[in-house]
Amino acid sequence: MVTLDDLKTPKTNTWCPGCGNFGILMAFKKALIELGLEREETVLVSGIGCHGKMVNYVNINGFHGIHGRVLPVAQGIKLANPDLKVIGFAGDADQYNEGWGHFAHAIRTNIDMTLIVHDNMVLGLTTGQATSTSQQGFKSKSTPFGVIPPMLNPLTHAIVSNGSFVARGFAGDMLHLKGIIMKAISHKGFAFVDVFQPCVSFNYLNTYDWFRDRIYKLEEESHDVTDQKGALEKAFEWGDRIPIGIFYNKERPTYHDSLQHVKDVQLTNLPKENVDISETLKEFM
Ligand code: SF4
Repeated sequence: MVTLDDLKTPKTNTWCPGCGNFGILMAFKKALIELGLEREETVLVSGIGCHGKMVNYVNINGFHGIHGRVLPVAQGIKLANPDLKVIGFAGDADQYNEGWGHFAHAIRTNIDMTLIVHDNMVLGLTTGQATSTSQQGFKSKSTPFGVIPPMLNPLTHAIVSNGSFVARGFAGDMLHLKGIIMKAISHKGFAFVDVFQPCVSFNYLNTYDWFRDRIYKLEEESHDVTDQKGALEKAFEWGDRIPIGIFYNKERPTYHDSLQHVKDVQLTNLPKENVDISETLKEFM
């Protein structure tokens, strides 16, 4: 079982003081402990960006992938060993720019895994360029006159693509976020959580105060999480009032439910004596 020792923060943490990533990390650790997940049965995958260090800051199995490719790696792990709990962490540019195609198909495929997107609405690691969730007019190094196209809305997309669990949290409300993450990890199917994650170094528009002035919790409005149209309506809300919480949650058959041969012959249980991966490993050296 995952213990507090496994979750000790390493001495070296390179996130900027005050970064929203700390709130996500703490919420995730608390969720892991409360769920009582087995250490050996949990795998984390991250992409490229400041969020990518999540796998370094939680001492359980982790794979730090390349930009935009969190989902192919995570889905591959799940396909090879469906007994594992697979949790992917991505950044907004990582998932909604480079990895957008993977996102769209993972949602409709309904692989049984969780995806948590650290959405700071800017590229932080590369010191402040606009991304697809940057607001119109947002001035950055790459958009000195302001972002021209409307921002991408990952929640509306996830809902119309028949996502079975669609949620949004806020890094500045750790306990609320922990509850969402626990429900996402417990969900059977593809669980998607977008998290508002203030970047205190490069996003001077969408700050903690900016979010606190606008966000409200769906639970406060007796929102019906099984109503897809109602969820979509809520996901379109932006401006003075921005909802967070679970927008949609309705289980449907997962990809594995339809793959009897994967159930019968699990890849990780096949004989490995005659398998030689030395050539493949050289690619990673
Ligand atoms: Fe966090 Fe932004 Fe610093 Fe990255 S650059 S660690 S996202 S505050």
